[in-house]
Amino acid sequence: MLCPFCKSEIPDDAKKCMNCGEWVDPAYKKPLPEKGTFFSFLGETIVNLLFWAFILLIAGIVVFAYLDYNDMITF
Ligand SMILES: [Zn+2]
Repeated sequence: MLCPFCKSEIPDDAKKCMNCGEWVDPAYKKPLPEKGTFFSFLGETIVNLLFWAFILLIAGIVVFAYLDYNDMITF
């Protein structure tokens, strides 16, 4: 495989690049995809929150419009 830091050819099972000395163990690479998943999860959560905030806003408008309508009939 290629060292992600110095792009030199190193053994596939190498944990540390013998050329630049950086750790290339897959265990050290894992945090990156997890970060991506976390941020996409965060994005999904924000979209969901905005969606439900929008639904609640519409529901609130409908309820208040309905109450106003009832008030108009009562008075
Ligand atoms: Zn290297």
